[in-house]
Amino acid sequence: MTACLITIGDELLQGFTIDTNSAWLGQTLLPLGISIRQRITVPDDTEAIISAVSQALKTGYTFIFVTGGLGPTRDDITKAAFKTIFKTDEYFDEKYYRQLTERFKKRNFKIPSLNRSQAMLLTDCEHIPNRIGTALGMRFVHGKSSVFALPGVPAEMKAMVLETILPEYLPQATFKRIVTLQTTGIPESKLAEDVRDILDNNARGFGFAFLPHHTGVNLRIRQKPGTNDEVKEKLINRLIQRLGTHYFGRDGETLENVVGKMLLGSGKTLSVAESCTGGLLSKRLTDIPGSSRYFFGGVVSYSNDLKRELLGVPEELLSRFGAVSAPVATAMAEGCKARTGTDFALSMTGISGPGGGSDEKPVGLVFIALAYSSKTQVKKLNLIPERTLHREMTVTAALDQLRRFLLHKTSREEGNILT
Ligand code: AMP
Ligand code: MG
Repeated sequence: MTACLITIGDELLQGFTIDTNSAWLGQTLLPLGISIRQRITVPDDTEAIISAVSQALKTGYTFIFVTGGLGPTRDDITKAAFKTIFKTDEYFDEKYYRQLTERFKKRNFKIPSLNRSQAMLLTDCEHIPNRIGTALGMRFVHGKSSVFALPGVPAEMKAMVLETILPEYLPQATFKRIVTLQTTGIPESKLAEDVRDILDNNARGFGFAFLPHHTGVNLRIRQKPGTNDEVKEKLINRLIQRLGTHYFGRDGETLENVVGKMLLGSGKTLSVAESCTGGLLSKRLTDIPGSSRYFFGGVVSYSNDLKRELLGVPEELLSRFGAVSAPVATAMAEGCKARTGTDFALSMTGISGPGGGSDEKPVGLVFIALAYSSKTQVKKLNLIPERTLHREMTVTAALDQLRRFLLHKTSREEGNILT
């Protein structure tokens, strides 16, 4: 099965909006055994859309996904282009217009006249419901090709793909051919060395790729046609075992989700005292629905005053060791735990840059402390000296510190434990 992705929008070509739709579609379709052969971005121009879709139909892709240009404004011309391509008619759908009117009414708006165009529907296609927005999607069949026209708004497009297109039009593709194992806290080369013999022994039936990013390395395993599922499961289990504590989840599961499940499973609670991360750890933890069951909240104590006043960090530690130091990180975590009454408290204090570094304390330095029972474990890390990456890496390292602790695997040889 092959696919071509066509994204529409001047803003995509100009770079004001990043084309995340193509990336998401690629990642979502690849594991289903659909090979993306072409990606095209075209302007908000009827002729350009007609030309791109016609060319893709000529090539004969199994699936052609088109996103964008289905809104009610003047630059939304996908429908007109499709009307020409498939030589269809248009009709006013009274029932859908009533639904739209109701939807606006619920939000205390009178339906704008522009939205009337969204109830003008094309014949000869199936319409795909839109749970989130107002534009319906469309599916045309042309020879062996299915053509989907979807909204540009990423959340609407994703909901249509996951809730309608995959279950209704691609049920044969539910067979998972790609598995991604996620690791953190181990460099790519070490990971590759650790699993080399397993990969070598399975090279015939599987393809492997190491995908490093700044917070970890993913190992992607692609099952080649003709390889059986049982062999795949065995291989995955062997790899997970070999990856040990560095492995934390598969197929896009986030570290905060994993840690959340572990906290929930053990009935423990967490609070955080953040400095250089400015609330990013709290954000990541609360991205998980239901996290209030284990995450109580936290303090963004960016200034020394708040470290003293809200967390009880002694002035003596601040002036003697500086805000970015193991004793201050420890005092922050312990103060946070004592004030919130949680089982665990994580704290982070570091230098994200670009300024503020010194020879002794360079940009990139961070101390992460985990307070539990009557003890505190502090780690000193030198991460990438770039502000955004540094903050993301710090949050990941903090979550990972707690995850490893909860796994009961924390030991001195795993590095950097100062106290
Ligand atoms: P449209 O459906 O073309 O009216 O697009 C609606 C919104 O979705 C606009 O804010 C676009 O910038 C955004 N959008 C459209 N296409 C994409 C895409 N390929 N990736 C990410 N965002 C997009
Ligand atoms: Mg647009």
